[in-house]
Amino acid sequence: MDRIDLRSDTVTLPSPGMREAMAAAPVGDDQYGEDPSVNRLQERVAALLGKEAALFLPSGTMANQIALKVLTRPGDDVIVGEEAHIVWHEAGAAAANSGVQFTVVGRGGLFTAAELRAAVKPQGHIVFPPTTLVAIENTHNRGGGVVFPQDEAAAICEAARGAGLASYLDGARLFNAAAASGRSLAELAAPFDLVSVALSKGLGCPVGSLIAGGRSEIARAVRFRRMFGGAMRQSGILAAAGLYALDHNLARLPEDHANARLIAERIAGTPGLLLDLATVQSNIVIFKLEAGAPDAATVVARAKAEGVLVSAFAARTVRAVTHLDVTREQCRRAGEVLARVAAQR
Ligand SMILES: *Cc1c(COP(=O)(O)O)cnc(C)c1O
Repeated sequence: MDRIDLRSDTVTLPSPGMREAMAAAPVGDDQYGEDPSVNRLQERVAALLGKEAALFLPSGTMANQIALKVLTRPGDDVIVGEEAHIVWHEAGAAAANSGVQFTVVGRGGLFTAAELRAAVKPQGHIVFPPTTLVAIENTHNRGGGVVFPQDEAAAICEAARGAGLASYLDGARLFNAAAASGRSLAELAAPFDLVSVALSKGLGCPVGSLIAGGRSEIARAVRFRRMFGGAMRQSGILAAAGLYALDHNLARLPEDHANARLIAERIAGTPGLLLDLATVQSNIVIFKLEAGAPDAATVVARAKAEGVLVSAFAARTVRAVTHLDVTREQCRRAGEVLARVAAQR
């Protein structure tokens, strides 16, 4: 049976063209600054994001962890939206590596400048943990791939600066946010001190993220990359996949968004299935299952038996993600299967 894998946009396989670009990449020892492919990718992504410099990293988790190291000190308080990747999906790394605590504000991953201002704990107080950083996720994974409203992001970063806080954008899916909003990457990144992007999600690369910002922050990030064991050598083989993806896979992201919409519109209205179509703004479809409907594990198992792979994101929450290795026709079929198995009692 033809397998339709919607568990994540990380399951994509490098295409023959991408593999050729990787095989042909000029390389050198990146820790001597001598890998021309890494250097090209870093310069290109810094320019795309409108920042002075960028640094190539093995993963988005490392990008988030380095951002925390660069912008906070142990004991600091970091403000985030609900169910942020940096809180939920990084195995406790923020506590272990940077010793920070989180304050969660807003709803569904989104929040306002007013909510930020109300949550900031002043620096220099004798009992409060000082709030030193605000981190936004765009698009927001567990929020269903929603795009963070840009006017609000700008207002949040301005309020942050006014209160002496740094700002960080977890842009693992910023390419999707740009495609969905019609705004440029540079515009989305502009309000923030540090910004990350992932190559291994919608762009279809096997490995890689970058963090971008001012020269002095990126110089500090170089040290923390080494500290975390993420400094690489002939990593131009991996960077070449990123350069290839920017040329070939970036412009097609709207197809993934249209396919997610196709699935969402097919399954919305299924009895027992709760889906807010307003959250389906990019390549992620998250739905909940009411009491009386099968739970997430049951829906995942039934769909798998019909060749459709999706993820149980919580006991009654399921996630499906579209990407360049699934066709529109496969997404149409996946919508049929999900609606059917969710409706079975
Ligand atoms: C995927 C993702 C990351 C990074 O994940 P890695 O698997 O470590 O590359 C970070 N933030 C968000 C919002 C993500 O979706």
